[in-house]
Amino acid sequence: TAKAETLSFQTEVKQMLHLMIHSLYSNREIFLRELISNASDACDKLRFEALDQPELLEGDSDLAIRIGFDKQARTLTITDSGVGMSRDEAIAHLGTIAKSGTKEFFSRLTGDQQKDANLIGQFGVGFYSAFIVADKVTVLTRRAGLAAEHGVKWECSMEGDAAGEYSIESITREARGTEIVLHLREGEDDLLSGWKLRSIIRKYSDHIAQPIRMRKEEWDQEKNEQVLRDDEETVNQASALWARPKSDVTDEQYKEFFKHVSHDNEEPLAWTHAHVEGRHEYTQLLYLPSHAPFDLWDRNARHGLKLYVRRVFIMDDAEKLLPFYLRFVRGVVDSNDLPLNVSREILQESRDIDTIRAGCAKKVLSLLEDLAENDKDKYAKFWGEFGQVLKEGVGEDFANRERIAKLLRFASTQADTPEQTVSLADYVARMKEGQDKIYYVTADTFTAAKNSPHLEIFRKKGVEVLLLAERVDEWLVSHLTEFDGKPVVSVARGDLDLGKLEDEEEKKASEAQADEYKELIGKLKVSLGERVKDVRVTHRLTDSPACVVADENEMGTNLARLLKAAGQ
Ligand code: ADP
Ligand code: MG
Repeated sequence: TAKAETLSFQTEVKQMLHLMIHSLYSNREIFLRELISNASDACDKLRFEALDQPELLEGDSDLAIRIGFDKQARTLTITDSGVGMSRDEAIAHLGTIAKSGTKEFFSRLTGDQQKDANLIGQFGVGFYSAFIVADKVTVLTRRAGLAAEHGVKWECSMEGDAAGEYSIESITREARGTEIVLHLREGEDDLLSGWKLRSIIRKYSDHIAQPIRMRKEEWDQEKNEQVLRDDEETVNQASALWARPKSDVTDEQYKEFFKHVSHDNEEPLAWTHAHVEGRHEYTQLLYLPSHAPFDLWDRNARHGLKLYVRRVFIMDDAEKLLPFYLRFVRGVVDSNDLPLNVSREILQESRDIDTIRAGCAKKVLSLLEDLAENDKDKYAKFWGEFGQVLKEGVGEDFANRERIAKLLRFASTQADTPEQTVSLADYVARMKEGQDKIYYVTADTFTAAKNSPHLEIFRKKGVEVLLLAERVDEWLVSHLTEFDGKPVVSVARGDLDLGKLEDEEEKKASEAQADEYKELIGKLKVSLGERVKDVRVTHRLTDSPACVVADENEMGTNLARLLKAAGQ
């Protein structure tokens, strides 16, 4: 077996390292949060694997994280007794970025440090953030269950700035799990302090479920400085955050926990935390992120919640725990009733999961309703980021269709601006006397919708029309056929019937005109031939000479175009 080899980082890693060092420095303390987060994940994974294979614990079930420092060597050490990595795993996980959408993410980088730092935060910074404070990182690890001689030493040193290579070699390592040694950069010596490290841990990692231990310190009179003792203490609360009563968790702790579960560096927009009792007992802690992830539209993107069963981590991205249109929600579900050996396959069929999923969907909708009612700015922010996804829910979630419909926001002819602020309830409250329908127009762009000739008669009569210009809108209106007992209809469809909004004179006039233009219409029908079903005189236009309308029973022109583009 190859003893030592030097390997190149994937191009994206080089880019990431460079950016990380330059753009995240002002927030350098996050490196510790990221490394502790990984150590915690590694402990979770081992506990999970040990359910089936208890021998992986090698007789030592203490899953913990240790933080140490050495002033002389100028190193910090983060050690965990988690699952560890094999040689192949170290190469795969510490030399490449495996996240879906990586390419797209990197193509969005602008070179503007401020903007890119923001993006990087959204991507999740992870292991490489070690290089913010270290110019050399050594990883010593052994996969749980492998023999001591299958230990691995991974090392990467940055001369000055960004190096493109790392070395990997096999070593003998008795201890299972991972030890990460950071050789600090010049000027980072303030991190070589128990007091400083404790304060960073309490700030960012208090929510971590495993104990984070550090050696105790005491004052040495002779040396006139703090010296390390042999015994240790636990620095964090070391209990699962979601299992604590709400009143024991501060907003700061909720926010840090979000960063841990979501791999998102920004603060969440809102969250909801509840213990549900009844036929199934479970705890849910669900977050709305403050921005859409770059892979929101990537069908293969990871989504879903972290699933725990009685505090034991079971899986990431349990997509069955939420309907697809809520794929932006992040968080944790901890079930008291599911079996510990539950797998993705079992989840597919489980009735318990259906109950939990319905419960989570309801909880998220309540949270949204609460924001829409009590925090309009936050709701507007939410809508701007995720409104298009929520619209899918009208077709996907029949049971909650009404609730979702109330949460929708649209642009309309009332303001004539692209801002989506009008709810269906607002619209209904403004309906004209005699108006019994909710009108909308769809188009490819907002400008096209706003300038649609179909709107002329409505503008003339002062009747509000919703302006729909997103891809999902045709799908939306095909499912949203009524709201509050009022049909939702397209202004571009069929024989426009304005009902009581139309006055008798207009009707008579158009009938008279139909006679008058019989000849012209006959000619138009002949020359348009197969391309149209019918040609009619209309009173719905005031300025434009003609417009195309869809038949009452046919799909909207926009949907027809979409389907055609999709090759259907
Ligand atoms: P993420 O945590 O989002 O997956 P990171 O960059 O933080 O991304 O970590 C990359 C991967 O490296 C992890 O998914 C894990 O497989 C591996 N890894 C990192 N730290 C450890 C550790 N302490 N123990 C075991 N595996 C680790
Ligand atoms: Mg990580």
